[in-house]
Formats: sequence, structure tokens, C-alpha cells
Amino acid sequence: MIKTNWHTHTARCGHAYGTDEEYVQAAIRGGLKTLGFSDHAAYTTPYPPERMDIEQVPEYIASIRSLKEKYKNQISIHLGMEVEYYPSQWETLTYYRKEMDYLILGQHQLELGAGSVYGIRDPQRLKRYVDALEGACYHGLCDYIAHPDVVLYSYPVLDGSVREAARRIADISLKYDMPLELNCGSGVRYGKQHYSDGDRYAYPVRIFFEEFARRHCPIVIGLDIHNPQLFLEERDLNRALSVIEGLDCNIIEDYDILSAAEKHKRDFF
Ligand SMILES: [Zn+2]
Ligand SMILES: [Zn+2]
Repeated sequence: MIKTNWHTHTARCGHAYGTDEEYVQAAIRGGLKTLGFSDHAAYTTPYPPERMDIEQVPEYIASIRSLKEKYKNQISIHLGMEVEYYPSQWETLTYYRKEMDYLILGQHQLELGAGSVYGIRDPQRLKRYVDALEGACYHGLCDYIAHPDVVLYSYPVLDGSVREAARRIADISLKYDMPLELNCGSGVRYGKQHYSDGDRYAYPVRIFFEEFARRHCPIVIGLDIHNPQLFLEERDLNRALSVIEGLDCNIIEDYDILSAAEKHKRDFF
């Protein structure tokens, strides 16, 4: 099992299970040395069950900080969030950028309340998705890009537009020194799905990682945990690794996300 995981949710988001402390205890039992909490960021409009309400943010911060102290001799705990690039929410995002130890970018909609990436099936919106990733990196909003290929969840065919998107994301990763995540979450948990050009996991998707490997982009493994029990299982990790089998991926095992966050905090605007 891996030793570091920066991608962990809590029950506050409405689609994860267990108490915060159960995540910590399971991570310790699973052999982790570093545990980052990165629950879905709250915005000014509630959207259950996708993310916590903004009123819950202070309690989230207090809970993770107190667990960090309580378990400091057993595991190194850090407080983060999984944010989207939403220019309309800049005040809230600015607060998270300052307050959190680190931020990961998980772009789930093109803009707040519209354009779910789970429904994208055309090159125009695929391009807009990549534009959002670029905007986040340009502004110093995030410290790694979670599931860059989640946009292929419903994409019918892995054609030239997908290759082009992968190349652009590789360019962004190298330009901003921004790691890309190999995600071990629900994209593999629910098994392979049928698409018009064959069966594959919804994400991660090999064609993206072919480009990332070719360009030697930094890759970070993220478990995207929504249930403490999953710290004790390796099935989903092995499924994600099977997607990139044989590729010369530049996997960074001990990515110092905290130092990266310090730099991005200074550059953030
Ligand atoms: Zn989630
Ligand atoms: Zn996540």
C-alpha cells in the first residue's frame, strides 16, 4: 500500500461514510504515514449531496486540526480541500487558499451549478474543461490536479479530441510544475463500463497517461477515499495501476504538496 494519500473525503460531503477519526484509524492500520483530508469544497450555494454546506467549514477545520494533534505520534495529518476553478466563487476560494494547508483541483462542473463534467460528450466542452484546469494553475489555486481524466466519464469515443486534451493537460502540468493524479476512486470501483469504442474504466483512462508518460509529467497516486474501509483494500489501487501498465510514468511517491502549496499561496491571485 502507498504511504501518502492527499485525497480523502469526510461524511460532510453527503456521499462518504464514517467519522473523521475512523478515517485516521483506518489509515494508520493501512500503513499510511501521511494523511491529507481534502473534502469537497463548500460554496455559497448548497448542493447536497455533492459537498458540505459552507456553515460546516469551521467545524471541518477544527475537527481535522484536533485529530492532527491527537494522532501526531502515529501519522502526519494535513488539512486540505478539493476545489473547483469557479471564478464566480473567488472570495470563497481565496479564503480556502489561505486557510488550508493545501488544495487539490477536482473540476466536477464547468461552472458552479452548470456543465457537469460527468455528462460531457463533445470536443467543445472537453476543451472548456481543459481551459478550467489551465485557469486554476495560472492563478495558483491548486497544488495537484485530481482525476484529470474524469471528463471522459461519458465521453463516447477516445478520438483525436481526447488525445489533444491530454497533450494540453501535459503542457499545463509541465508549465506549472503541477502533478496529475492517478485516481483510485469510483472510476475504477464500479468496474469497466461500455463505451461505443470498447470497455474501459470511466477513469483513469490510458490515452491520457500515454501522453503524460511520453512528456514525463509528474504523477501522484490519489486514493480518493470516501469510506475508511478502503484504506485496508488494494483492489482499486491495483485496478488504477493496471490502466497504466507498461507506461513509463513519472510517479512521485512522496510529493511535497505542502512546499508546493507555500509557493502557490505566494503566487495566488
Ligand atoms: Zn466525492
Ligand atoms: Zn475527491
